[in-house]
Amino acid sequence: MSWALIVHGGAKEIAPGEEDANREGVSAAIEAGRAVLASGGSAIDACEAAVRVLEARPVFNAGRGSDPTEIGEIEMCSAIMDGATLAVGGVMAIQGVCHPVSVARMLLGEQEILLAGEGARRFAQEKGAELCGRDELLTEKTEKQLAEADHDTVGAVALDAAGNLAAATSTGGLNGQKQGRIGDSPMPGCGYYAENGAGAVALSGHGEEIARMMLAGRIMHRMSEHGPERAVLSSVREMVRVGGEAGGIAIDAAGRIGWAHISPHFAVAAIREGQDKPDIWLKKDEQ
Ligand code: ASP
Repeated sequence: MSWALIVHGGAKEIAPGEEDANREGVSAAIEAGRAVLASGGSAIDACEAAVRVLEARPVFNAGRGSDPTEIGEIEMCSAIMDGATLAVGGVMAIQGVCHPVSVARMLLGEQEILLAGEGARRFAQEKGAELCGRDELLTEKTEKQLAEADHDTVGAVALDAAGNLAAATSTGGLNGQKQGRIGDSPMPGCGYYAENGAGAVALSGHGEEIARMMLAGRIMHRMSEHGPERAVLSSVREMVRVGGEAGGIAIDAAGRIGWAHISPHFAVAAIREGQDKPDIWLKKDEQ
């Protein structure tokens, strides 16, 4: 089996001047994931490695650079899913951690699939996750960026050489969201899904609408018949029923990569085994 990897930096409008930071971010993320897959590592490790890079970059609304809630707190959501075992780990409205995706990853071996708020943070602390204060998570965002920011989850989907699929998401949620608000990103079947033999998908966009459409599940159901690109495109287009923007990345069991969005921009990087350089886009039809 040839490995494949795709990452995104959010379905959003990229402000003028932010293009290079977005390109550089998804490019660094794909390199981190590629290093894992090219050395025989697993899809789940590649997804975690790629999302950690995106969480570390303030240009993306995940980890450092997360958008604040209505009262100025940082509450993050993240999840990771192993298509081999259907294990899910997700954290919701977690505060004070640098890499929510790694806390989600730590949950994979546990009975619980989702932990929220203070319980999630306590779990992270017990497991030795890296802790970050609110100011560290917020610092590098300028007033202007905050005023313009809306939403932009990050995500990764991978297929490894053993045929295992995985997906991961991470987000600071919507700018100015209610304290305690949860979107699609930690919920399996809404913001992401992965199942060996079928495919894997990760989404970004307006979480309430994505959840109401059960968008990840919708894409999974269409993947074998229509392939990943058409499955994502036809599904995100159906968002007109409920409103809101969305973008999605997917890989099917054969290693075919697909992505689509109905937002102004969607920073994406993708690579397959044997490919020298990743393909990078800031929106569809623009290399
Ligand atoms: N889906 C995320 C949420 O609703 C936000 C985003 O993708 O930008 O929390």
